[in-house]
Amino acid sequence: MVDLPRCRRATWAEVERWADRIADEVRAHRALPETIVALTRGGWVPSRLLCDRLGVKRLLSVRAQHWGVTATPSGRAELTDGLSGKVAGESVLVVDDITDTGESLSLAIEHIRAHGPARLESAALLHINHSKFVPTYFAEEIPREAWVWIVFPWNYWEDVATLAARAAALTPGIDAVRATLVERTGLTVPREDLERVARHTSLDGASTAGAPP
Ligand code: AMP
Repeated sequence: MVDLPRCRRATWAEVERWADRIADEVRAHRALPETIVALTRGGWVPSRLLCDRLGVKRLLSVRAQHWGVTATPSGRAELTDGLSGKVAGESVLVVDDITDTGESLSLAIEHIRAHGPARLESAALLHINHSKFVPTYFAEEIPREAWVWIVFPWNYWEDVATLAARAAALTPGIDAVRATLVERTGLTVPREDLERVARHTSLDGASTAGAPP
């Protein structure tokens, strides 16, 4: 089966707005963190934006793996790299881009809690409301019935390459892939972007695995 989920491309302007909203809420709760922990890879950019907005100098990371490639869960979420520094006695905010199943953030929270922070809160730019974990802060909620794969700016080429390769398995050729992506995923990908992908990934239908250009 070829998996071409409905997608929505998030813009940098939206990302900045979501980060602004979360930063405002954190300040309103008088909950300024001393350390931000990025849940990588998705939480890396949002974490840095929040450091900037909240004046936080200390940025650590923890790595979870769950969704192997675009919209394909790779089984259970796993914490693959532990917390990169000490947080004992500190006020900590752990940040991801989106909570979908919520497994990644809930694993990260459990792991960080064991390091003894004085206060531990969480934030995600977007929150799908079927998630088993509800972050302390989120900028926008997506109802479960409206589930989409969000193509964040930091995952654009990876997502386009994966989706284009899947579309090529159904309808080979750049123009056919472009039309299939619009019809099945709702994404309008500029032709030059697909040409760039085609330099590294076969869009002639020979393979279903994409590689970022
Ligand atoms: P989860 O453990 O299901 O809450 O999600 C783990 C990670 O997978 C998120 O931090 C995102 O980077 C990615 N992810 C999950 N669902 C989506 C989605 N609907 N759109 C974009 N990325 C997603």
